[in-house]
Amino acid sequence: MLFKLSILYYLAEIKLTKWLYIHNIRFRRNGMIKKMIRHCTTSLFYKPFAQNKHNFENFPVINKAIFMANFDAINTVNIKLEEAFEVAKKSEESRDFSPTISGITVGLSSGTSGNRGVFLASEKERAYWVALILDRVLGFSLKKRSIAFFLRANSNLYDSVKSKLLLFHFFDLLNPLDEHIKRLNALKPSILVAQPSMLIELANAIETNKLKIQPTKVISVAEVLTPEDKCYLASIFKQTIHQVYQCTEGFLASSCENGTLHFNEDFLIIEKKYIDNEQKRFHPIITDLKRQSQPMIRYELNDIIQEKENCSCGSKFLAIEAIEGRSDDILVFKNTKNEEVKIFPDFFRRAIILADSEINDYALIQNEPKYLLLYIKSRQEESYQLAYDAIQNLLKQNNILDIIITQTAHNHTIKGNKLRRIRNDVRKAN
Ligand SMILES: [Zn+2]
Repeated sequence: MLFKLSILYYLAEIKLTKWLYIHNIRFRRNGMIKKMIRHCTTSLFYKPFAQNKHNFENFPVINKAIFMANFDAINTVNIKLEEAFEVAKKSEESRDFSPTISGITVGLSSGTSGNRGVFLASEKERAYWVALILDRVLGFSLKKRSIAFFLRANSNLYDSVKSKLLLFHFFDLLNPLDEHIKRLNALKPSILVAQPSMLIELANAIETNKLKIQPTKVISVAEVLTPEDKCYLASIFKQTIHQVYQCTEGFLASSCENGTLHFNEDFLIIEKKYIDNEQKRFHPIITDLKRQSQPMIRYELNDIIQEKENCSCGSKFLAIEAIEGRSDDILVFKNTKNEEVKIFPDFFRRAIILADSEINDYALIQNEPKYLLLYIKSRQEESYQLAYDAIQNLLKQNNILDIIITQTAHNHTIKGNKLRRIRNDVRKAN
């Protein structure tokens, strides 16, 4: 009961904070910054930077490597990384996601092994998160709704959304598709939450009449949703596809009624680190004004964000044109002058999809500096050659001439892992 009351309390707080932010009334925001800095005195890592109570710019910019290396000193709830990993891994293996460490929920992000993040959330933070999900994603309603939620691993963070009005059903990504279809047909969920690659499989099943569901809301999570996938899904589900941009680092953005993602700037500070000369693409450096167990301050993500100038919904929150993937997925080559040339994944995506409208799936993997693997799924045999030529053209425009592209019959994604269609596997091998 207390938990549910806190959700209602936070829901009111969130609405007020948003209203104040939108109307440019600063006292609330200044108070939040001050409170966050004051709380940092309980973090061994951040204590030295918390002397000036007003200025969070004194804090160092960190990244995942620094964050994980200093996990024990950063968190304010005395949890050691080793112990957090142990609990989270055991939960995943036993598929029992209830264990906590002294009331703190521990979760693992779905990165590749060796690159996985660990998140911590207190009961208060869980209640706050639920309120946020209700406010920004599910919408508050007194109608009974069932949610089909596809995840690689459940977490009691997600279980906390459960209530009499919201019936949460966890779908384990590792289970076979036929089983999902059977369960979904029986459940007929009102809300469907899954990553684009799963949504596409479900949309294919709707097209072939195997799956008969009509959710009133479809939410894409965890992977990059490309414009062409968004279009396809919208046509099958007959609605705007909503998106949630959430990772271990927090609940960063959600889509407006137009389907455009907006950063949750009412409780996040977003600094932009531009990574291209045109200043169109940036890495977000995020500061979460609400996280306490695990402060998230000036944390640079390696996601490539393309900025959207303005969204017709009129929101004041920073809009995202596209999340292009991660910086690790920028393909790197040598040109004819032996200079290094970096090409963003989005350029390859566009070259491939514009090569032939019959292409309905693809993958491009750089497995060695001069070698690319190309997967093309299409009804037409010529599609492969058209995509091949488009990629060679793009490389040629950048004075890269000696790249060998080989055809591959599958997209090289392991079941349960995130789909990344354009991928640089070279650096991992080093
Ligand atoms: Zn908008």
